[in-house]
Amino acid sequence: MDAGTMIEPSFRESVDLMFNRAVALMKLPPGLEDKIRVCNSTYTVRFGVKLRGEIKTFTGYRSVHSEHMEPVKGGIRYATGVNQDEVEALAALMTYKCALVETPFGGSKGGLCIDPREYDEDELERITRRFAYELAKRDLIDPAQNVPAPDMGTGEREMAWIADQYARMNTSDINARACVTGKPPHAGGIQGRVEATGRGVQYALQEFFRHPDAVAMAQLNGMLDGKTVIVQGLGNVGYHAAKFLSEEDGCKIIGVIERDGALVDEAGLDVEAVSQWIRNHGGVKGYSTHYVEDGAGVLEHDCDILVPAALEGVINLSNADRIKANLIIEAANGPVTAGADEILRDKGVVIIPDMYANAGGVTVSYFEWVKNLSHIRFGRMQRRQEEARHLLIVHELERLSEHLGDAWSMTSNFKEKYLRGADELELVRSGLDDTMRGAYQAMHEVWRSRDDVTDLRTAAYIVAIDRVAESYQAKGL
Ligand code: GLU
Repeated sequence: MDAGTMIEPSFRESVDLMFNRAVALMKLPPGLEDKIRVCNSTYTVRFGVKLRGEIKTFTGYRSVHSEHMEPVKGGIRYATGVNQDEVEALAALMTYKCALVETPFGGSKGGLCIDPREYDEDELERITRRFAYELAKRDLIDPAQNVPAPDMGTGEREMAWIADQYARMNTSDINARACVTGKPPHAGGIQGRVEATGRGVQYALQEFFRHPDAVAMAQLNGMLDGKTVIVQGLGNVGYHAAKFLSEEDGCKIIGVIERDGALVDEAGLDVEAVSQWIRNHGGVKGYSTHYVEDGAGVLEHDCDILVPAALEGVINLSNADRIKANLIIEAANGPVTAGADEILRDKGVVIIPDMYANAGGVTVSYFEWVKNLSHIRFGRMQRRQEEARHLLIVHELERLSEHLGDAWSMTSNFKEKYLRGADELELVRSGLDDTMRGAYQAMHEVWRSRDDVTDLRTAAYIVAIDRVAESYQAKGL
Protein backbone atom coordinates (compact mmCIF):
# COMPACT_ATOMS: atom_id res chain seq x y z
CA MET A 1 0.00 0.00 0.00
CA ASP A 2 1.18 3.54 -0.72
CA ALA A 3 2.27 5.31 2.50
CA GLY A 4 0.12 8.31 1.57
CA THR A 5 -3.09 6.28 1.72
CA MET A 6 -2.22 4.40 4.93
CA ILE A 7 -3.72 5.41 8.25
CA GLU A 8 -1.53 5.31 11.33
CA PRO A 9 -2.95 2.81 13.84
CA SER A 10 -2.91 3.47 17.58
CA PHE A 11 0.03 2.13 19.61
CA ARG A 12 -1.95 -0.90 20.78
CA GLU A 13 -3.23 -1.59 17.27
CA SER A 14 0.35 -1.31 16.03
CA VAL A 15 1.51 -3.96 18.52
CA ASP A 16 -1.44 -6.17 17.52
CA LEU A 17 -0.62 -5.80 13.82
CA MET A 18 2.96 -6.88 14.45
CA PHE A 19 1.67 -9.80 16.56
CA ASN A 20 -0.76 -10.81 13.76
CA ARG A 21 2.01 -10.75 11.19
CA ALA A 22 4.03 -13.24 13.23
CA VAL A 23 1.16 -15.44 14.32
CA ALA A 24 0.10 -15.90 10.68
CA LEU A 25 3.35 -17.84 10.24
CA MET A 26 2.72 -20.08 13.25
CA LYS A 27 0.49 -23.07 13.85
CA LEU A 28 -1.24 -22.40 17.15
CA PRO A 29 -4.20 -24.45 18.42
CA PRO A 30 -7.57 -22.82 17.55
CA GLY A 31 -8.40 -19.87 19.78
CA LEU A 32 -5.04 -19.63 21.51
CA GLU A 33 -3.94 -16.79 19.25
CA ASP A 34 -6.79 -14.59 20.52
CA LYS A 35 -6.18 -15.57 24.12
CA ILE A 36 -2.55 -14.50 23.87
CA ARG A 37 -3.25 -11.27 21.97
CA VAL A 38 -5.92 -9.77 24.24
CA CYS A 39 -5.14 -7.75 27.31
CA ASN A 40 -6.58 -9.55 30.37
CA SER A 41 -7.58 -6.47 32.36
CA THR A 42 -6.95 -2.78 32.81
CA TYR A 43 -7.71 -1.07 36.07
CA THR A 44 -8.32 2.67 35.99
CA VAL A 45 -8.14 4.64 39.19
CA ARG A 46 -8.98 8.26 39.91
CA PHE A 47 -7.81 9.50 43.27
CA GLY A 48 -7.49 12.82 44.99
CA VAL A 49 -4.51 14.29 46.82
CA LYS A 50 -4.67 17.54 48.75
CA LEU A 51 -1.97 19.78 47.31
CA ARG A 52 -1.35 23.49 47.72
CA GLY A 53 -4.67 23.99 49.53
CA GLU A 54 -6.88 22.18 47.01
CA ILE A 55 -7.78 18.62 46.09
CA LYS A 56 -6.15 17.56 42.86
CA THR A 57 -7.55 14.51 41.04
CA PHE A 58 -5.16 12.15 39.23
CA THR A 59 -5.87 9.34 36.77
CA GLY A 60 -3.75 6.21 36.78
CA TYR A 61 -3.79 2.77 35.16
CA ARG A 62 -2.39 -0.69 35.73
CA SER A 63 -2.92 -3.05 32.86
CA VAL A 64 -2.32 -6.81 33.03
CA HIS A 65 -1.80 -8.30 29.60
CA SER A 66 -1.02 -11.95 30.33
CA GLU A 67 -0.92 -14.04 33.49
CA HIS A 68 0.49 -17.19 31.90
CA MET A 69 3.24 -16.67 34.48
CA GLU A 70 3.01 -14.78 37.75
CA PRO A 71 3.93 -12.32 39.02
CA VAL A 72 3.26 -10.07 36.09
CA LYS A 73 5.92 -7.45 35.51
CA GLY A 74 6.29 -4.01 33.98
CA GLY A 75 7.09 -0.41 34.77
CA ILE A 76 5.02 2.52 35.97
CA ARG A 77 5.24 5.59 33.75
CA TYR A 78 4.64 9.21 34.77
CA ALA A 79 3.76 11.31 31.74
CA THR A 80 0.94 13.55 30.58
CA GLY A 81 0.27 11.38 27.53
CA VAL A 82 -0.48 8.21 29.53
CA ASN A 83 -3.77 6.59 28.47
CA GLN A 84 -5.41 3.16 28.39
CA ASP A 85 -4.35 2.36 24.82
CA GLU A 86 -0.73 3.12 25.68
CA VAL A 87 -0.54 1.08 28.90
CA GLU A 88 -2.23 -1.86 27.17
CA ALA A 89 0.27 -1.74 24.29
CA LEU A 90 3.16 -1.51 26.75
CA ALA A 91 1.76 -4.36 28.88
CA ALA A 92 1.52 -6.57 25.78
CA LEU A 93 5.13 -5.75 24.89
CA MET A 94 6.13 -6.74 28.44
CA THR A 95 4.56 -10.20 27.94
CA TYR A 96 6.58 -10.81 24.78
CA LYS A 97 9.73 -9.20 26.20
CA CYS A 98 9.71 -11.37 29.32
CA ALA A 99 9.13 -14.51 27.24
CA LEU A 100 11.94 -13.62 24.82
CA VAL A 101 14.56 -13.05 27.53
CA GLU A 102 13.23 -15.88 29.69
CA THR A 103 12.31 -13.93 32.77
CA PRO A 104 9.51 -15.91 34.45
CA PHE A 105 6.86 -13.19 34.36
CA GLY A 106 3.62 -12.26 32.65
CA GLY A 107 3.27 -8.77 31.19
CA SER A 108 1.88 -5.67 32.87
CA LYS A 109 2.31 -1.89 32.76
CA GLY A 110 1.12 1.10 34.69
CA GLY A 111 0.94 4.80 34.20
CA LEU A 112 -0.09 8.02 35.87
CA CYS A 113 -1.20 11.08 33.87
CA ILE A 114 1.10 13.64 35.38
CA ASP A 115 3.95 15.92 34.47
CA PRO A 116 6.34 15.15 37.33
CA ARG A 117 8.26 18.39 36.70
CA GLU A 118 5.24 20.35 37.96
CA TYR A 119 5.55 18.96 41.51
CA ASP A 120 8.19 19.13 44.19
CA GLU A 121 9.64 16.03 45.83
CA ASP A 122 7.33 16.10 48.79
CA GLU A 123 4.23 16.38 46.60
CA LEU A 124 5.45 13.59 44.32
CA GLU A 125 5.94 11.35 47.33
CA ARG A 126 2.36 11.90 48.48
CA ILE A 127 0.97 11.31 44.99
CA THR A 128 3.10 8.16 44.52
CA ARG A 129 2.17 6.71 47.92
CA ARG A 130 -1.52 7.28 47.25
CA PHE A 131 -1.28 5.67 43.79
CA ALA A 132 0.66 2.74 45.28
CA TYR A 133 -2.00 2.36 48.00
CA GLU A 134 -4.76 2.19 45.36
CA LEU A 135 -2.88 -0.47 43.38
CA ALA A 136 -1.65 -2.51 46.36
CA LYS A 137 -5.10 -2.87 47.88
CA ARG A 138 -6.22 -4.55 44.64
CA ASP A 139 -3.14 -6.84 44.47
CA LEU A 140 -1.81 -4.81 41.55
CA ILE A 141 1.35 -4.40 43.59
CA ASP A 142 2.34 -7.69 45.23
CA PRO A 143 5.60 -9.73 45.24
CA ALA A 144 3.76 -12.83 44.01
CA GLN A 145 1.25 -11.23 41.67
CA ASN A 146 2.32 -7.91 40.21
CA VAL A 147 5.76 -6.29 40.48
CA PRO A 148 6.14 -2.78 39.04
CA ALA A 149 9.43 -1.09 38.12
CA PRO A 150 10.64 2.27 36.82
CA ASP A 151 9.69 3.57 33.40
CA MET A 152 9.61 6.98 31.78
CA GLY A 153 9.33 9.72 34.44
CA THR A 154 9.99 7.41 37.41
CA GLY A 155 13.15 6.01 38.97
CA GLU A 156 14.75 4.67 42.13
CA ARG A 157 13.15 7.29 44.34
CA GLU A 158 9.57 6.45 43.33
CA MET A 159 10.26 2.71 43.64
CA ALA A 160 11.55 3.19 47.20
CA TRP A 161 8.33 5.02 48.12
CA ILE A 162 6.23 2.26 46.55
CA ALA A 163 8.18 -0.46 48.41
CA ASP A 164 7.77 1.39 51.69
CA GLN A 165 4.06 1.98 51.10
CA TYR A 166 3.51 -1.72 50.40
CA ALA A 167 5.54 -2.72 53.49
CA ARG A 168 3.40 -0.43 55.66
CA MET A 169 0.25 -2.10 54.35
CA ASN A 170 1.67 -5.64 54.71
CA THR A 171 3.65 -5.54 57.91
CA SER A 172 4.14 -9.30 58.23
CA ASP A 173 5.07 -10.00 54.60
CA ILE A 174 8.69 -11.11 54.79
CA ASN A 175 9.01 -10.71 51.00
CA ALA A 176 7.62 -7.19 50.94
CA ARG A 177 10.73 -5.76 49.29
CA ALA A 178 10.14 -7.95 46.24
CA CYS A 179 6.88 -6.06 45.53
CA VAL A 180 8.71 -3.64 43.22
CA THR A 181 12.09 -3.54 41.44
CA GLY A 182 14.40 -0.71 40.48
CA LYS A 183 14.78 0.34 44.12
CA PRO A 184 17.99 2.08 45.23
CA PRO A 185 20.65 -0.39 46.48
CA HIS A 186 20.26 0.87 50.07
CA ALA A 187 16.53 0.06 49.97
CA GLY A 188 16.72 -3.49 48.64
CA GLY A 189 17.78 -2.70 45.08
CA ILE A 190 20.58 -4.30 43.11
CA GLN A 191 23.80 -2.90 41.65
CA GLY A 192 23.55 -2.18 37.94
CA ARG A 193 19.75 -1.73 37.69
CA VAL A 194 19.94 1.96 36.75
CA GLU A 195 22.33 1.33 33.85
CA ALA A 196 20.66 -1.98 32.90
CA THR A 197 18.49 -0.97 29.94
CA GLY A 198 21.28 1.06 28.30
CA ARG A 199 23.78 -1.69 29.09
CA GLY A 200 21.39 -4.17 27.46
CA VAL A 201 21.28 -2.03 24.30
CA GLN A 202 25.09 -2.18 24.20
CA TYR A 203 25.15 -5.97 24.71
CA ALA A 204 22.44 -6.37 22.05
CA LEU A 205 24.54 -4.48 19.50
CA GLN A 206 27.69 -6.38 20.47
CA GLU A 207 25.87 -9.66 19.88
CA PHE A 208 24.38 -8.45 16.58
CA PHE A 209 27.88 -7.57 15.33
CA ARG A 210 29.11 -11.07 16.25
CA HIS A 211 26.91 -12.34 13.38
CA PRO A 212 28.46 -11.29 10.06
CA ASP A 213 25.36 -12.40 8.12
CA ALA A 214 23.19 -10.08 10.21
CA VAL A 215 25.64 -7.20 9.76
CA ALA A 216 25.61 -7.79 6.00
CA MET A 217 21.78 -7.70 5.99
CA ALA A 218 22.06 -4.18 7.42
CA GLN A 219 24.50 -3.32 4.62
CA LEU A 220 27.22 -2.67 7.16
CA ASN A 221 30.51 -4.42 7.73
CA GLY A 222 33.09 -5.05 10.39
CA MET A 223 32.53 -4.59 14.09
CA LEU A 224 30.91 -1.87 16.19
CA ASP A 225 34.14 0.13 16.36
CA GLY A 226 33.90 3.36 14.34
CA LYS A 227 30.17 3.12 13.62
CA THR A 228 28.28 6.42 13.59
CA VAL A 229 25.31 6.61 15.95
CA ILE A 230 22.40 9.02 16.46
CA VAL A 231 20.53 8.78 19.76
CA GLN A 232 17.07 10.22 20.33
CA GLY A 233 16.51 10.98 24.01
CA LEU A 234 19.39 11.21 26.46
CA GLY A 235 17.31 10.02 29.41
CA ASN A 236 18.38 7.05 31.51
CA VAL A 237 18.31 4.53 28.64
CA GLY A 238 19.71 6.75 25.86
CA TYR A 239 22.41 8.21 28.10
CA HIS A 240 23.77 4.84 29.25
CA ALA A 241 23.58 3.32 25.76
CA ALA A 242 25.42 6.31 24.22
CA LYS A 243 27.97 6.39 27.03
CA PHE A 244 28.87 2.69 26.84
CA LEU A 245 28.85 2.56 23.02
CA SER A 246 31.19 5.55 22.76
CA GLU A 247 33.46 4.83 25.74
CA GLU A 248 33.76 1.05 25.38
CA ASP A 249 32.95 0.08 21.78
CA GLY A 250 34.51 2.91 19.77
CA CYS A 251 31.21 4.19 18.34
CA LYS A 252 30.94 7.83 17.35
CA ILE A 253 27.83 9.59 18.70
CA ILE A 254 27.26 12.08 15.87
CA GLY A 255 23.78 13.17 16.93
CA VAL A 256 21.74 13.62 20.09
CA ILE A 257 18.07 14.56 19.77
CA GLU A 258 16.18 16.09 22.68
CA ARG A 259 12.81 17.78 23.21
CA ASP A 260 14.14 21.25 22.35
CA GLY A 261 16.25 20.36 19.31
CA ALA A 262 19.35 18.34 18.54
CA LEU A 263 23.13 18.43 18.45
CA VAL A 264 24.93 17.17 15.36
CA ASP A 265 28.69 16.79 15.18
CA GLU A 266 30.31 14.47 12.65
CA ALA A 267 33.47 14.44 14.79
CA GLY A 268 31.53 12.85 17.65
CA LEU A 269 29.85 14.37 20.71
CA ASP A 270 31.08 14.07 24.29
CA VAL A 271 28.14 12.20 25.85
CA GLU A 272 29.08 13.03 29.43
CA ALA A 273 29.37 16.77 28.69
CA VAL A 274 26.09 16.85 26.73
CA SER A 275 24.27 14.97 29.48
CA GLN A 276 25.63 17.38 32.10
CA TRP A 277 24.43 20.31 29.98
CA ILE A 278 20.93 18.81 29.68
CA ARG A 279 20.77 18.28 33.45
CA ASN A 280 21.71 21.91 34.09
CA HIS A 281 19.75 23.59 31.31
CA GLY A 282 16.80 21.27 30.66
CA GLY A 283 17.71 20.75 26.99
CA VAL A 284 20.49 20.84 24.40
CA LYS A 285 19.97 24.43 23.23
CA GLY A 286 23.03 26.61 23.80
CA TYR A 287 25.41 23.67 24.25
CA SER A 288 27.50 24.57 21.20
CA THR A 289 27.39 25.67 17.59
CA HIS A 290 26.30 22.13 16.75
CA TYR A 291 22.74 22.93 17.82
CA VAL A 292 19.93 22.29 15.29
CA GLU A 293 16.42 23.47 16.08
CA ASP A 294 14.57 20.81 14.07
CA GLY A 295 15.31 17.85 16.32
CA ALA A 296 12.94 15.41 14.61
CA GLY A 297 14.67 16.12 11.28
CA VAL A 298 17.91 14.71 12.70
CA LEU A 299 16.28 11.26 12.82
CA GLU A 300 16.65 11.42 9.03
CA HIS A 301 20.39 12.16 9.03
CA ASP A 302 22.94 9.77 7.61
CA CYS A 303 24.29 7.36 10.23
CA ASP A 304 25.04 3.68 10.66
CA ILE A 305 22.92 3.10 13.76
CA LEU A 306 19.84 5.01 14.92
CA VAL A 307 18.85 4.60 18.56
CA PRO A 308 15.35 5.93 19.30
CA ALA A 309 15.38 5.97 23.12
CA ALA A 310 12.46 8.26 23.89
CA LEU A 311 8.77 7.97 23.01
CA GLU A 312 6.66 5.59 20.97
CA GLY A 313 5.65 6.39 17.39
CA VAL A 314 8.52 8.75 16.53
CA ILE A 315 9.28 6.89 13.31
CA ASN A 316 5.98 6.79 11.51
CA LEU A 317 4.31 7.08 8.13
CA SER A 318 5.33 10.73 7.86
CA ASN A 319 9.10 10.20 8.05
CA ALA A 320 9.89 6.49 7.56
CA ASP A 321 10.79 6.78 3.89
CA ARG A 322 13.37 9.47 4.67
CA ILE A 323 15.23 7.50 7.37
CA LYS A 324 18.81 6.87 6.20
CA ALA A 325 20.19 4.69 9.01
CA ASN A 326 20.98 1.11 8.01
CA LEU A 327 20.30 -0.27 11.44
CA ILE A 328 17.73 0.86 14.02
CA ILE A 329 17.84 -0.41 17.57
CA GLU A 330 14.62 0.31 19.45
CA ALA A 331 15.81 1.35 22.90
CA ALA A 332 12.34 2.85 23.55
CA ASN A 333 9.13 0.83 23.49
CA GLY A 334 7.28 1.12 20.18
CA PRO A 335 9.29 3.92 18.52
CA VAL A 336 8.49 2.54 15.03
CA THR A 337 4.81 2.26 14.09
CA ALA A 338 3.51 -0.79 12.20
CA GLY A 339 3.21 1.23 8.97
CA ALA A 340 6.74 2.64 9.30
CA ASP A 341 8.02 -0.85 10.04
CA GLU A 342 6.68 -2.02 6.69
CA ILE A 343 8.26 0.90 4.80
CA LEU A 344 11.62 0.40 6.51
CA ARG A 345 11.58 -3.35 5.85
CA ASP A 346 10.98 -2.67 2.16
CA LYS A 347 13.96 -0.29 2.17
CA GLY A 348 16.19 -3.01 3.65
CA VAL A 349 16.67 -1.29 7.01
CA VAL A 350 17.33 -3.81 9.78
CA ILE A 351 15.44 -3.15 13.03
CA ILE A 352 16.50 -4.71 16.32
CA PRO A 353 13.06 -4.75 17.97
CA ASP A 354 12.10 -3.14 21.27
CA MET A 355 11.01 -6.32 23.02
CA TYR A 356 14.60 -7.50 22.72
CA ALA A 357 16.62 -4.27 22.56
CA ASN A 358 15.35 -2.75 25.81
CA ALA A 359 14.91 -5.99 27.76
CA GLY A 360 17.97 -5.25 29.90
CA GLY A 361 15.80 -3.41 32.41
CA VAL A 362 13.42 -6.25 33.15
CA THR A 363 16.28 -8.76 33.09
CA VAL A 364 18.07 -7.00 35.93
CA SER A 365 14.71 -6.46 37.63
CA TYR A 366 14.42 -10.24 37.64
CA PHE A 367 17.81 -10.50 39.37
CA GLU A 368 16.67 -7.93 41.92
CA TRP A 369 13.41 -9.79 42.59
CA VAL A 370 15.32 -13.06 43.08
CA LYS A 371 17.77 -11.28 45.40
CA ASN A 372 14.88 -9.89 47.45
CA LEU A 373 13.21 -13.29 47.72
CA SER A 374 16.44 -15.03 48.69
CA HIS A 375 17.30 -12.26 51.18
CA ILE A 376 20.99 -12.38 50.30
CA ARG A 377 23.18 -10.41 47.94
CA PHE A 378 24.63 -12.22 44.94
CA GLY A 379 28.18 -13.44 45.50
CA ARG A 380 28.12 -13.15 49.30
CA MET A 381 28.65 -16.87 49.90
CA GLN A 382 31.15 -17.68 47.17
CA ARG A 383 33.26 -14.57 46.52
CA ARG A 384 36.04 -15.15 49.08
CA GLN A 385 36.03 -18.88 48.49
CA GLU A 386 36.55 -18.23 44.79
CA GLU A 387 39.43 -15.89 45.62
CA ALA A 388 41.02 -18.51 47.88
CA ARG A 389 40.92 -21.12 45.11
CA HIS A 390 42.43 -18.66 42.64
CA LEU A 391 45.16 -17.93 45.17
CA LEU A 392 46.07 -21.60 45.23
CA ILE A 393 46.72 -21.56 41.48
CA VAL A 394 48.64 -18.28 41.63
CA HIS A 395 50.92 -19.62 44.38
CA GLU A 396 51.52 -22.75 42.35
CA LEU A 397 52.36 -20.70 39.24
CA GLU A 398 54.73 -18.53 41.27
CA ARG A 399 56.47 -21.62 42.61
CA LEU A 400 56.89 -23.03 39.09
CA SER A 401 58.14 -19.77 37.59
CA GLU A 402 60.86 -19.56 40.27
CA HIS A 403 62.32 -22.74 38.78
CA LEU A 404 61.71 -21.84 35.13
CA GLY A 405 63.12 -18.30 35.14
CA ASP A 406 61.78 -14.81 34.34
CA ALA A 407 60.44 -15.66 30.89
CA TRP A 408 57.80 -17.80 32.64
CA SER A 409 56.71 -15.26 35.20
CA MET A 410 53.14 -13.88 35.19
CA THR A 411 52.34 -10.62 33.39
CA SER A 412 52.25 -7.69 35.79
CA ASN A 413 48.54 -7.27 36.59
CA PHE A 414 47.47 -10.89 35.94
CA LYS A 415 47.68 -11.79 39.60
CA GLU A 416 45.59 -8.87 40.77
CA LYS A 417 42.93 -9.36 38.05
CA TYR A 418 42.73 -13.12 38.43
CA LEU A 419 42.56 -13.09 42.20
CA ARG A 420 39.60 -10.76 42.56
CA GLY A 421 36.29 -12.58 42.98
CA ALA A 422 33.29 -11.04 41.18
CA ASP A 423 31.18 -8.52 43.08
CA GLU A 424 27.43 -8.03 42.63
CA LEU A 425 27.78 -5.54 39.77
CA GLU A 426 30.02 -7.87 37.79
CA LEU A 427 27.65 -10.77 38.36
CA VAL A 428 24.67 -8.68 37.24
CA ARG A 429 26.48 -7.58 34.09
CA SER A 430 27.53 -11.13 33.36
CA GLY A 431 23.95 -12.41 33.79
CA LEU A 432 22.64 -9.61 31.58
CA ASP A 433 25.22 -10.24 28.86
CA ASP A 434 24.39 -13.94 28.86
CA THR A 435 20.67 -13.17 28.63
CA MET A 436 21.09 -10.73 25.74
CA ARG A 437 23.29 -13.16 23.82
CA GLY A 438 20.91 -16.07 24.33
CA ALA A 439 17.80 -14.12 23.33
CA TYR A 440 19.50 -12.73 20.22
CA GLN A 441 20.58 -16.18 19.15
CA ALA A 442 17.03 -17.50 19.49
CA MET A 443 15.68 -14.68 17.25
CA HIS A 444 18.57 -14.95 14.82
CA GLU A 445 17.98 -18.67 14.34
CA VAL A 446 14.35 -18.07 13.32
CA TRP A 447 15.22 -15.03 11.18
CA ARG A 448 17.99 -16.69 9.19
CA SER A 449 16.66 -20.23 8.94
CA ARG A 450 13.09 -19.61 7.78
CA ASP A 451 12.35 -18.25 4.30
CA ASP A 452 9.03 -16.82 5.43
CA VAL A 453 10.63 -14.75 8.22
CA THR A 454 12.37 -11.73 6.77
CA ASP A 455 12.91 -9.52 9.79
CA LEU A 456 14.07 -9.68 13.39
CA ARG A 457 10.83 -8.34 14.84
CA THR A 458 8.74 -11.15 13.38
CA ALA A 459 11.37 -13.62 14.56
CA ALA A 460 11.23 -12.12 18.08
CA TYR A 461 7.42 -12.39 18.15
CA ILE A 462 7.56 -16.00 16.96
CA VAL A 463 10.03 -16.99 19.70
CA ALA A 464 8.04 -15.14 22.37
CA ILE A 465 4.56 -16.28 21.30
CA ASP A 466 5.77 -19.86 21.07
CA ARG A 467 6.97 -19.72 24.69
CA VAL A 468 3.77 -18.07 25.93
CA ALA A 469 1.71 -20.68 24.04
CA GLU A 470 3.71 -23.52 25.57
CA SER A 471 3.13 -22.09 28.99
CA TYR A 472 -0.65 -21.80 28.44
CA GLN A 473 -0.78 -25.32 27.06
CA ALA A 474 1.16 -26.67 30.05
CA LYS A 475 -1.58 -25.16 32.22
CA GLY A 476 -4.17 -27.09 30.25
CA LEU A 477 -5.59 -24.03 28.50
N1 GLU B 1 9.91 -0.25 32.33
C1 GLU B 1 10.89 -1.19 31.88
C2 GLU B 1 10.44 -1.84 30.58
O1 GLU B 1 9.68 -1.31 29.84
C3 GLU B 1 11.31 -2.16 32.95
C4 GLU B 1 10.26 -3.11 33.41
C5 GLU B 1 10.68 -3.95 34.62
O2 GLU B 1 11.83 -3.88 35.02
O3 GLU B 1 9.82 -4.67 35.11
O4 GLU B 1 10.91 -2.88 30.21
